[in-house]
Amino acid sequence: GARRSTSRIFLPHLVASIEEVEETYVMVKPDGVQRGLVGDIISRFEKKGFLLKGLKLFQCPKELAEEHYKELKDKSFYPKLIKYITSGPVVCMAWEGIGVVASARKLIGATNPLQADPGTIRGDLAVQTGRNVVHGSDSPDNGHREIDLWFKQDELCEWVPAQEPWLKE
Ligand code: ADP
Repeated sequence: GARRSTSRIFLPHLVASIEEVEETYVMVKPDGVQRGLVGDIISRFEKKGFLLKGLKLFQCPKELAEEHYKELKDKSFYPKLIKYITSGPVVCMAWEGIGVVASARKLIGATNPLQADPGTIRGDLAVQTGRNVVHGSDSPDNGHREIDLWFKQDELCEWVPAQEPWLKE
């Protein structure tokens, strides 16, 4: 859509060295909300220096959960996953930044919390794959897709934080 301001530079041999602005969809799952972990989780992305573009508490309808996880629909755990994600409110977030997709995945940690490194959200705060407290998009394309899926256009803000000169030279 028109709100995408990301610069696209079509020089394939240089792409790896170009730091590109991305956006990613992060969600505190129902267990994270019920356990009172919302503030801690938001705080990690905020303190890192990423830009918050959208934020809401939301009861996810079944159809949206199915669309979000459609690539997993043939997995044995899929019905349980849909039940889990719709079992209570979630906190939806859109974060922007250079390299934010992979970095958010690092902050979140491995899918199985017992294998997630200490210091990551799942490593610090969870024990089971089926209750792993947080979601993060796995690619820039999915970042765009999921933000479009979970947010309406007028729920997203384009803004420049006052701290920006202290984050980027
Ligand atoms: P990630 O969320 O780390 O990107 P996946 O995309 O593989 O991981 O899976 C999506 C979500 O499905 C996981 O975060 C987890 O909540 C759930 N899930 C994945 N594998 C299992 C499993 N074996 N048993 C139960 N739930 C699972």
